Amino acid sequence: MKLFGTSGIRMKNLNPEIAYKIGFAVSQIAKNVVIGRDTRTTGGLIKNALITGLLNGGSDITNIGIVPTPTLGFSARNYDVGIMITASHNPPEYNGIKLFNKDGTAFRPEQEKQIEKIVSNKDFKRADWNCVGSVWKDETAIKKYMDFILENVDINKPFNVVVDCANSAGCVASPYLFTDVGAHVISINAHIDGRFVGRMPEPNEKNLYETMKMIKGLNENKDKNNDNNINGGRYIGIAHDGDADRMIAIDEKGRLTDFDKLLAVFSRYIVEKTGQKAIITTVDASMAVDEYLKDLNVKVIRTKVGDVAVSEALNKYNAIFGGEPSGTWIHKDIHLTPDGILSGLRILEMMEFYGKELCELMDEVPSYVNLREKIPCPDDKKVNVMNHVIENGEKIYNVIPETIDGARFNLEDGWVLIRPSGTEPYIRVRVEAKDYRVAKELLEKGIKLIKMENEYYDK
Ligand code: MG
Repeated sequence: MKLFGTSGIRMKNLNPEIAYKIGFAVSQIAKNVVIGRDTRTTGGLIKNALITGLLNGGSDITNIGIVPTPTLGFSARNYDVGIMITASHNPPEYNGIKLFNKDGTAFRPEQEKQIEKIVSNKDFKRADWNCVGSVWKDETAIKKYMDFILENVDINKPFNVVVDCANSAGCVASPYLFTDVGAHVISINAHIDGRFVGRMPEPNEKNLYETMKMIKGLNENKDKNNDNNINGGRYIGIAHDGDADRMIAIDEKGRLTDFDKLLAVFSRYIVEKTGQKAIITTVDASMAVDEYLKDLNVKVIRTKVGDVAVSEALNKYNAIFGGEPSGTWIHKDIHLTPDGILSGLRILEMMEFYGKELCELMDEVPSYVNLREKIPCPDDKKVNVMNHVIENGEKIYNVIPETIDGARFNLEDGWVLIRPSGTEPYIRVRVEAKDYRVAKELLEKGIKLIKMENEYYDK
């Protein structure tokens, strides 16, 4: 039985019976477990089902309540396993379960398989009546996490920041941390409501439209009143997804920063500040990252998509920073769980380091044309289609693909990535090029290549 996708278990109307089984399975491998959740309306239901399974197998549970994923990941260092109940950026009717190791990394695929195997073989052993586990509530986890983050950031300028928490887990930590580093904070969507009344938790242009407009307006007022120099400059925005393991920034002009460009700017900052020799990113990141770092003595290393692959590469190449263009960034010099709050604070550090506004930094990064398309493909056909793409793509693009994750064709004036979605019945094509005509041509070739093998699309 396959339960885990690319980021733990995630589904619409997640059934508490599954949660119970996962809890029972985890109890077979872990004695001490810490559990946290985001604000979703089904969070309490899923949490209680998990706890019942865990208790039944004899685990002791520490419940740290509503917390961001990075807080759960940080807390996991004191336990055998951490469990976060969240569906991240998905709409409110979804929920999910993500398991964490002691070092703050998410479970690797082989660990998830072990849990799946226990569930499908019903390999459960109930604890005897006198060994049933117990539950503790720990309300200090947030404070400990916040103290830890504060010790590890260095911000001296009084910035102006709008923090948008999507009514979810970021609410309990993010605005307070920005205040603690001396920023003047306006928080929005910052009360807990698992229906996500303010905006949907995916941090994209559509969902952040009002926040962007607000920042633009705030700064226009500041410009009019000439108060930029006295009061820490113009506002920027930091917006989280549902569990605040990610963030995206909004610049002083009210523009949502391009995910790839922000990654490029921040990577350059890390290299210039610390002299790192390697930056980790994923196969789907823009060539803007390589281009913007090319005058520095640094290697841009690409891994499979997903935070587990990024954290493995951080260890392998002894690097301290790895980021995905989704806004999932790992700061290994601080901790190993992707952390959208820490990432936001470090954006301020970066602005202080360069003495520049975020919009200025963003405008230094080259822009390319990015096109994306998803082609329907049933899960059981994905392997065939990908084999076909790898075998025949060479003839179409005149280059042998890299196959770290899907097939990536690196061309002189751009690249094409064709990879199966880990969570949905699609094959995705992503293309980047210097001009639109080339990008469009590359995209069309990719779509044709996928469809070549698969007449069933038209049926
Ligand atoms: Mg997330």
